[in-house]
Amino acid sequence: MDTTASTPVFNQAYINERFVSLHGTQVIDLVNPTNNDVIGKVTMADAIDTRHAIAAAKEAFKTFSQTSKQERMDYLQRLHESVSRRMNDLVEATILEYGAPQERAKGSNNLAANIFLHFKEVLNDFDLSTTVGKSEVVFEPLGVVGIFTPWNSSAGSIAIKVAPEIADGCRVVIKPSEMSAMQTQVLMESFHEAGLPPGVINFVTGLGEIVGAELTHSPDVDKIAFTGSTQIGKLVARNALDTMKRFTLELGGKSPNIILDDADFSKAIPMAVNACYLNNGQACIAASRLFVPESRLDEVIQLTRATVAKIQVGDPMDNAVTIGPVASRKQYNRIQEYIRSGIEEGAELVVGGTGHPQGLERGNFVKPTVFANVTPGMKISREEIFGPVLSILTYRTEADAIRMANDSEYGLMAYVSSSNAQRARKVARQLPAGRVLINTLSHDPFAPFGGFKQSGIGREGGLFGLKEYLEPKAIISE
Ligand code: NAD
Repeated sequence: MDTTASTPVFNQAYINERFVSLHGTQVIDLVNPTNNDVIGKVTMADAIDTRHAIAAAKEAFKTFSQTSKQERMDYLQRLHESVSRRMNDLVEATILEYGAPQERAKGSNNLAANIFLHFKEVLNDFDLSTTVGKSEVVFEPLGVVGIFTPWNSSAGSIAIKVAPEIADGCRVVIKPSEMSAMQTQVLMESFHEAGLPPGVINFVTGLGEIVGAELTHSPDVDKIAFTGSTQIGKLVARNALDTMKRFTLELGGKSPNIILDDADFSKAIPMAVNACYLNNGQACIAASRLFVPESRLDEVIQLTRATVAKIQVGDPMDNAVTIGPVASRKQYNRIQEYIRSGIEEGAELVVGGTGHPQGLERGNFVKPTVFANVTPGMKISREEIFGPVLSILTYRTEADAIRMANDSEYGLMAYVSSSNAQRARKVARQLPAGRVLINTLSHDPFAPFGGFKQSGIGREGGLFGLKEYLEPKAIISE
């Protein structure tokens, strides 16, 4: 990073333990979504830069795969400490270049730092060789992993992949979102501070169709760990098959939230609104389809209006703000299209609507929006909007609610509210989703995270995440 220029310039990759100038020359603007000011110039790496990073990772594999479990646990501890030391910088970058509200920026980045400790614990408890039948089974590191991450959760999406890869003895080439240059810079510097051997962690910031494509096609990359949209995830998976790469895909969602008739609506409905508006509505786990009993719709509408009225939209540098801008003008326009389509398809606009909230016209601010009387065929009920837009659908029976909730191509998360734990668990068992949250929005870092159906392949987090970067080898002898 060049700090002498009046606008910060991000023009380096991190390869083989060194910050290096890029061969790529294309420069893009880094824009603050709160006011659309240009806050940085970011040089894009090209295929040659990517090949250098892959070669460094390949070379490092020879020695790193031979390190002991204890050495790798020490590296995980150091990664935790070095990312934690830069927490304030990471939080500031997340607010500035992405628009995350303070609480979210702090929570998600602290979680990212702690992921290294979680995997240290999981590795400690995991036996890298075991007996199955009469055979010895040893778990071997997969090799070189290409990491692709989105703009909506940069440090977390990177840490949840890097931590198990280090735990398992793999090597990584990270291609973060080109819209996350500031967060990437802080992460590169803090990973460097952790002092891992050369080539174990490499970063190349560039465009998906150039850097991403090079990683996906390279015969020297053994696995792709991808978080992003279902559309790009499918493309990456198709291309990765040519060299028979393994892949983990963490993709999109359109998560249902079923409020059973015995729930405490005064708690469940405000929680439902928050579950949809998480991270300015830009969360793969956003509970964007809310299912409520038909007979209680009026009460639900009143409660959602009251909840939205208390939300403060604005500059995320302000502590009181709970919804900041969406990440880009492109994203803003896309969300406006969805709000228009909800109105045109006949959904009832409860609150919000098109346009900016008053006084926030410079940034990419969206009015927190709620639609009622949404039907399952409407676009707003089927497609991932990735903005603060909640769709309320009604059901008559519990079976109806489950059937409608499951009528989606996605299966990342589901939510259930009820005062009867047994009943809620019974409903949860019938929802095809990687995670189901009952009466809570809490996170369990040791539980598997990932998608059913078109929300992905594979799991991240805990023991399930650890095993994603290991190949089991059976050794059978006389
Ligand atoms: P995206 O799919 O556009 O991009 C994801 C990454 O892939 C980026 O680094 C991008 O540069 C790269 N990429 C783009 N084209 C590529 C290509 N041709 N080859 C290789 N790589 C390429 O996603 P986004 O818009 O950055 O993020 C939003 C999406 O991510 C949403 O759909 C959201 O649901 C999803 N997401 C999923 C999870 C999860 O854990 N399931 C978490 C966060 C976000």
